[in-house]
Amino acid sequence: GKGIAVFTSGGDSQGMNAAVRAVVRMGIYLGCKVYFIKEGYQGMVDGGDNIVEANWSSVSCIIHKGGTIIGSARCLAFKEKEGRKKAAYHLIEKGITNLVVIGGDGSLTGADLFRQEWSDLLDALLADGKITKDQREKNKTLSIAGLVGSIDNDFCGTDMTIGTDSALHRIIEATDAIVSTAYSHQRTFIMEVMGRHCGYLALVAALTSEADYVFIPEDPVPVDWPDKLCKKLMQERSAGQRLNIIIIAEGAIDREGRPITAEDVKKVVVDNLNQDTRITVLGHVQRGGNPSAFDRVLGSRMGAEAVMALMEAEEHTEPCVISLDGNQAVRLPLMECVKQTKAVAQAMAVKDWDKAVSLRGKS
Ligand code: ATP
Repeated sequence: GKGIAVFTSGGDSQGMNAAVRAVVRMGIYLGCKVYFIKEGYQGMVDGGDNIVEANWSSVSCIIHKGGTIIGSARCLAFKEKEGRKKAAYHLIEKGITNLVVIGGDGSLTGADLFRQEWSDLLDALLADGKITKDQREKNKTLSIAGLVGSIDNDFCGTDMTIGTDSALHRIIEATDAIVSTAYSHQRTFIMEVMGRHCGYLALVAALTSEADYVFIPEDPVPVDWPDKLCKKLMQERSAGQRLNIIIIAEGAIDREGRPITAEDVKKVVVDNLNQDTRITVLGHVQRGGNPSAFDRVLGSRMGAEAVMALMEAEEHTEPCVISLDGNQAVRLPLMECVKQTKAVAQAMAVKDWDKAVSLRGKS
């Protein structure tokens, strides 16, 4: 059977384990040899004990765990050709010519580059006498399927990335807890949530917690936001509300592109309204804890579909990313999705928010 390896790379997210489990079990079910690569690209570059064969029971009892049991890392060496050559050697040693990469756009870009270079890397290894002609021939094609694991939901092409739903659960649990104490003391709370340049978590958190105000990068507030914010908060209080909740995405900016921090917002509220105002930064709590049912199912479906895609891949099949489209797991061209994701960042950098939102599309 085919040699398949699965690894997790970049920031972790809940539901990655469900995906790893599905890859291992689907692979074994279809007669493949399945390997774990531990610590992302670093494990691939280092080889040795980092690349181990998985069996059916090595993925028992992991579906409910947050994070990734096989570890994740950022790896500078893989960004250099020399590092990728070592990685290629370690894969060929084990007869691995199929990769399931679970990570963000950086990890997927690295995988695509690796595949483009694969022939050159094999030639170099052959020239160095590290592999035989027979090995060169047997391993001549590298196939890749990507899955997007990220709580940010910042990847173009998929409705949801693995981990987003669980992060939202963490956020709304925390917000509900804050609301009860805010009510008692008639306080105003500013909740800072993750998402980098994507406001999805902040927006959905605001909708589901009845927040009074939300700051997201895709819809930057006008520069006179302090007046608008204060007016809105006062309006709510005069209607009898005992508390205010403001949600701020970590990437929040104003229409001039200037960052807005939770401290900035607090200062405005305290200076103008003299409200008892507190900041809660949720931080890595959002990335931790058990995955939701949705993320367990999403990871499982995507993992299984990735193996199916690899089984059907031929010599010239382009790398794909497994995406959620409505309720279907579909295969999309990996590099097109990565390019579009990068174009969103580019549009935001030049303050073209309408373009950014339209490029991001459904996600
Ligand atoms: P996150 O959502 O956490 O940012 P990511 O996959 O985008 O996930 P990165 O830190 O960008 O995270 O990438 C993870 C790893 O992928 C890097 O440490 C590096 O080893 C590899 N990688 C990223 N970009 C490239 C690239 N252009 N060429 C080769 N390898 C890359």
